Amino acid sequence: MHAHPDDESISTGATMAQYAAQGAEVTLVTCTLGEEGEIYVPELALLAAAEADQLGGYRIAELRAACAALGVGNVRFLGGAGRYRDSGMMGMPTNDNPRAFWQADLDEAAGYLVEVMRETRPQVMITYDAHGFYGHPDHIQAHRVAMRAAELARAEGVGPEKIYWTALPKSVLEAGLHAFADTVGNPFEGVESVDDFPFGTPDAEIAARIDATDLHDAKVAALKAHATQIPEASWLYALAGDFGNEFMGVEYFTLAAGERGPGDGPNGWEADLFAGLAVDEPAPAEAGSR
Ligand SMILES: [Zn+2]
Repeated sequence: MHAHPDDESISTGATMAQYAAQGAEVTLVTCTLGEEGEIYVPELALLAAAEADQLGGYRIAELRAACAALGVGNVRFLGGAGRYRDSGMMGMPTNDNPRAFWQADLDEAAGYLVEVMRETRPQVMITYDAHGFYGHPDHIQAHRVAMRAAELARAEGVGPEKIYWTALPKSVLEAGLHAFADTVGNPFEGVESVDDFPFGTPDAEIAARIDATDLHDAKVAALKAHATQIPEASWLYALAGDFGNEFMGVEYFTLAAGERGPGDGPNGWEADLFAGLAVDEPAPAEAGSR
């Protein structure tokens, strides 16, 4: 469950690609079209919300291309494409648009996700923490809606057995702090301590570390499909160069609901989000299907 097109690739792209490659059924539900995003492709600048207001439709195509790169074919928009509008950054007038996701009725929005759960019967759900990972209103709302939907779906017996929230361990941030400082367009300019980042989780609270380093290329391809959002010269790619494949290929999660399974990763972290669950042996993805 993600807020905008591109969030799936940035925060869970490696994990989604890995499970899709293993034959698991991976469903992406995106809540808005990201209409209020920046546009880094000059010839598309007039698609912006204040001009033609066509960015959202364009981003559907970017999302589909990104998911194709990740090998994920089941892509939905919460309530259908265009049901909820990007709310923009916290405190902006766009938060008050009656169509903004920030204004969504919680149970109505959760109901749309319950419909998806009835159909797909997820064993594991991934969303954001209550802070929306970094405070964007649509991420906070995605958290609220996903958690409410899980509660409603569990009452029907179709909800997820485990729920994870995206996370970045403080130790990983610490290691990256200096690399951040040297990147062009560093979005965290002036940050001197990991405690000043708007995210970061104590290592002891991390539950799972998914190592999909060998699918690093799929994640990079997915990010590049979101060209309006992530400039070619982005600090993301600069950091990826500094850190190697681990920067893109390893993702971390906290466990918000369900039993923690056996951990055979570093620090006793789970190396598999399905650890401890009874799973059918997945059919390997057919060669050439990705
Ligand atoms: Zn987002």
